[in-house]
Order: sequence, then structure tokens, then C-alpha cells
Amino acid sequence: MSLAAVGATREESEVTAVLIDSIHRLAAEQIRALTVDHDKRIPRPLVEALAELGLFGMSLPESHGGAGLSLHAVGSVLGALARHDRSVATLVGLHAGLGTRGLVAFGSADLKDRYLPDLATGARVAAFSATEAEAGSDLGNLRTTAVATQDGLRIDGGKVYVTNAHLADVFTLLVSSPGLGGARRGQSLVLLERGDAGLTVGKEEDKLGLRGSSTASLFLDGVAVPASRVIGEPGRGKDLVEHVLAFGRIAMAAGCVGAAEAALELTRLQVTTRRQFGRPLIAFDVVAEQLGGMMALHYGMESLVRRAADAVDERDVTALMARSLAAKVFASEGDWEIVDTALQLHGGGGFIEEGGVPLLLRDARVTRIFEGANDVLLTRLGTLEVSRSDAPRPALGHAAADTVHHWLRDEVDALKQSAGVRVFGMQRDLHRLGRLCVLREVLDAAALRAREAATPEEPRLAHLAQLALRRAAACRAPCMPFTSVERMRSQVLEETAR
Ligand SMILES: Cc1cc2nc3c(=O)[nH]c(=O)nc-3n(C[C@H](O)[C@H](O)[C@H](O)COP(=O)(O)OP(=O)(O)OC[C@H]3O[C@@H](n4cnc5c(N)ncnc54)[C@H](O)[C@@H]3O)c2cc1C
Repeated sequence: MSLAAVGATREESEVTAVLIDSIHRLAAEQIRALTVDHDKRIPRPLVEALAELGLFGMSLPESHGGAGLSLHAVGSVLGALARHDRSVATLVGLHAGLGTRGLVAFGSADLKDRYLPDLATGARVAAFSATEAEAGSDLGNLRTTAVATQDGLRIDGGKVYVTNAHLADVFTLLVSSPGLGGARRGQSLVLLERGDAGLTVGKEEDKLGLRGSSTASLFLDGVAVPASRVIGEPGRGKDLVEHVLAFGRIAMAAGCVGAAEAALELTRLQVTTRRQFGRPLIAFDVVAEQLGGMMALHYGMESLVRRAADAVDERDVTALMARSLAAKVFASEGDWEIVDTALQLHGGGGFIEEGGVPLLLRDARVTRIFEGANDVLLTRLGTLEVSRSDAPRPALGHAAADTVHHWLRDEVDALKQSAGVRVFGMQRDLHRLGRLCVLREVLDAAALRAREAATPEEPRLAHLAQLALRRAAACRAPCMPFTSVERMRSQVLEETAR
């Protein structure tokens, strides 16, 4: 099974199927992933062709010229694009996700009327920018400020690693906005246009992967904009951006599903056609097991991303946060694991660029870092689980899913009992709980999917259950702290405290 043509409704599934078909045709004619990687840019005619297909408007509301597709459907389209080229999928995915979500979900009627129609046709491209040199994982530490003036706002500072930077005309920025909306230390989402005086885009970064995707810094030197450019309530950016990031993480995770599918396809061909010791590779137990593991992981990734997307469409805020974090972590790690195994099974040929596997590997790597470094997200997920002990969970009657859930709840209860409120400072344990959460979420999603499809005996689910149980058991047996690292840590902390 593939991500193809999955929508929230039958009508949407049909629209999505047509879009995906068109993407495959466009890919055959115009998408040359190795050339995009080599030239470090997506050719203009290809960007125009993507716009003609309506991809820039797929997640935008019909009222403003978009297709109004659910994130479920958008995810399947992004997955199809990522099967052909990750840089192209990133351009569209960033626009459809992080780039426009703030405007769609929280923008004023005036901002929507002004910007969405052009963003829907692709006449204008969107970017999102939160990260700064000193504020990456710690977005509470933003130094770029928006200060109220007589005429509106004045923005000063700088941003780094902005995807789509050189193509974008519209930027959603998360900035510190002391005093705005009455919040002394608040943050706000502000919309900037490429032509705003004082905004400069830096040079293209030279990257390990996603080399066709534009990444650059923004320099903001007294950029003056009207106060009406604030997206949503001034001073509430910290809360609003959580929703935007959750949406973006799921869109990105859908790309991981598609790219991993490309690696799986190459691997199926390789292990069935390549012969060694007089037999095709798949004849060897170890190879068959590796392929089975890849397929099971892929099934889990796809199931979890779909379920996370449904949480957006169902407006289930509590579930959205947990599932978007779990989907981002599991899909990015699964993508990496699948592509790495694909490379291994291609032997020496897997190391040669022409075969396409190295590009999949290089492109996959950043997904464990951007849209939140995985270790940071795992700790957040563990924290969430500790705080929402009564979160509802469907009765699935799936033994492995229930086992992992009970293990997780036992661990949470034991920690709370021994540490009380200090549990929120126990980063190693929260991270471990985060991992257990991911495994619980993926098993729940896969079991639910198998039940809905009336395929409870689905072999990929059975294999996924074994993998997840093994990994969950490892999470319950944490390593002791490494003494010499602990000494180094104390020294550094002492020195920085001085
Ligand atoms: C190609 C690319 C495109 C990007 N596009 C965008 C974009 O469009 N918009 C945008 O705003 N940002 C973008 N980013 C930035 C990205 O989101 C950040 O790089 C990411 O959030 C990590 O921040 P950092 O790089 O500052 O790493 P740091 O915060 O310095 O962290 C470094 C590493 O330390 C570890 N770490 C840090 N804190 C903790 C912790 N509390 N617990 C455990 N481990 C921890 C993690 O392993 C982490 O990877 C992009 C980055 C890249 C590389």
C-alpha cells in the first residue's frame, strides 16, 4: 500500500488521486533529482509547472483560490512529490505547511484577502522563519524584536536557515515583541514582504542534502511595517506558533514517508534481481528480515502520519500536539533507517551517486534536525505524557499496543511517585518516556488502520509490533550516567556559572 490518493472524504480522495497522477507524469517529464542536487536549484519551468498543477494552493482555503484539501490529503500529495525529489517536496511542503499556516489559521480577513490568492496560485511563494543564531531549539531566546512605533512596527535582528528564502515573497516571522498586546515578554507572528525596506536575504547555504532547496539568512534592519501585519493576536505568537509547527511537522513527516517509499522500491528491485552465491539476495534470511523490517517501519510511519493529520482536521488540539511530535520523530528516524538499510543492501552500488541512494540518504538527514531536533521533541513528548495522564485512548484490543501503553503508564506512575514535581526536571527520564510514547502512538495508529481496513492480520503490523516491543523494552532499561561525561558536565556548568 502507498500513500497514494488518500483523502478525508471520497471526493477529496478522487481529487488527490488526480493530483498524484499528474505529479508522477510531471516527474517523468521534468523532475531530475540528481540534476537539481548538482545544480543546487529547482529550474524555474519546474516551479511554474508545480504552480500550474495547483500544488501551491492545495492546503489553502477555497474561499481564497485554494483547493481546501485536508492535511491528510496534502500529506499524500507531498509524499508523492518526495518520492521523486525531496528538494521539490520541501519547496511545496514548506509553502503549504509552515509558510502559509499562520496566515490561514490566524490571519485577519484583510491579510488573507491581500496575500492568499497569490499564494494559492504560486504567483507568490511563502517562507517561515523562527530560528536565529542564538535561538534554535530554544525559541524562547529570540533576539529579533518588533517594537511599536507611531506608524506601526519596527523590526530589527536576524534570522538563519530560512527554507525557500530566495524564492519567497512572503515571510511569516516569529519575533520577540516586548509590550505588544500587553505581554511584557511576548512574541508575535509578523508577516514581511520581500520588498520591505531593511529586509535583506543572505547568500545560499551550501548544504549536505536538500541542495535544491533554498536556505538562507534574513537580515532585518529597521524594517517598518504597519501593525496590521501582525498575524493573530499580538503578544500571543508563542501559542500560535505551536499550532503552525505541529501542522508543519506533519507535512514534513509525510515527505519522509514518500522518500522512504522510494528507497523501498529501489530495495525491492535490488534484492530480487541482484544475485550473489548463485542466488538472489532475498534468498538470504538476513536480507529477507531486513526488507521485512523496512516494510514494517514504513507501514508504521504512514499510519502515524495519517493519524496525526486527522488530528488537525478533527481539530483535536490535545491529540495534535502528541501525534505531531511522535509522527515527526518516528517518520524522520524511520526514513533514515530505511534509506540506510537500502544503501547497505545495494552494496558498493549504494555508495555511488548515479544510483540515487546517496541522495536519498543525504536528503533524509536533516529531517531529524529541522522542525525541532528529535531529542528536544522526545523530551517534550515525555513531558506531555506526564502532564496528561488521563488522555483518552481508543480501546483497540491490540496486545502489543496495550502492552506498550501499560509499560508507559507504569513508568510515568513510578517516576511521579519517586520524584513528585521534580519529574519535570528529569530530562533523561522524560526523553525515555518520549520514546515509549512514540512507540505507543505508532502501534495505536497502525492497529487502528488495520482495524478500519478490516485487516487485523496485516503482516506489516505483526512485524511492527515485534520491533516496537523490542525497542520499548530497551527504553525501560536506561543506561547509567557515564562518570567521565558527568565530570566534564559539572566542570562546564561550574565555569559558565562563574
Ligand atoms: C536545511 C535547514 C532548513 C531549515 N529551515 C528552517 C525554516 O524554514 N525556518 C526556521 O525557522 N528554521 C529552519 N531551520 C532551523 C531548524 O529548525 C533548527 O536548525 C533546529 O530547530 C535546531 O536548532 P539549532 O540548529 O539551533 O540547534 P541547537 O538548538 O543548537 O541544538 C543542537 C543539538 O543539540 C541537541 N539539543 C539541543 N537542545 C537540547 C535539549 N534540550 N535536549 C537534548 N538535546 C538538545 C540536539 O541534538 C540538537 O540537534 C532549518 C535548518 C536547516 C538545517
